[in-house]
Amino acid sequence: MNDIVPPCPECSSPYAYQVGALFNCPECGHEWVSDAPTETASDVRDSVGNVLKDGDTVTVIKDLKVKGSSLVVKVGTKVRGIRLVDGDHDIDCKIPGVGQMGLKSQFVKKVTG
Ligand SMILES: [Zn+2]
Repeated sequence: MNDIVPPCPECSSPYAYQVGALFNCPECGHEWVSDAPTETASDVRDSVGNVLKDGDTVTVIKDLKVKGSSLVVKVGTKVRGIRLVDGDHDIDCKIPGVGQMGLKSQFVKKVTG
C-alpha cells in the first residue's frame, strides 16, 4: 500500500487526503481519482491506443503475410477472442481460413460496442 498522497493537481496543496479511490483537496475543494500507474507497463495497446484484453475482437489494419506460407491476412479481417501473450507478437489468436497465429498489437484496432 502506498500512503503517499500527491499534491492537489489544481492548487498544488500538500494537504490533500484520500477517501476510498478519490483524493480530496481541503483547500480548493477539488476531487480527483488516483491515476497512479498500476501494471500499466504490461498493458497491450492497439494501433490507436486502446487497451486490449483477452477475449476482445479486433480488426487487422494492414495486410499481413503469414510467416512460412503464401497466405495473407487481409486488412479489415475481424479476429474474435484474442489472447494476450508476452513477446514480439503480443496477440495470440485464431484467424478464419488461416488458423492459429500471432499478431502484433500495433497492426490491429479494437472493435468496440
Ligand atoms: Zn486544491
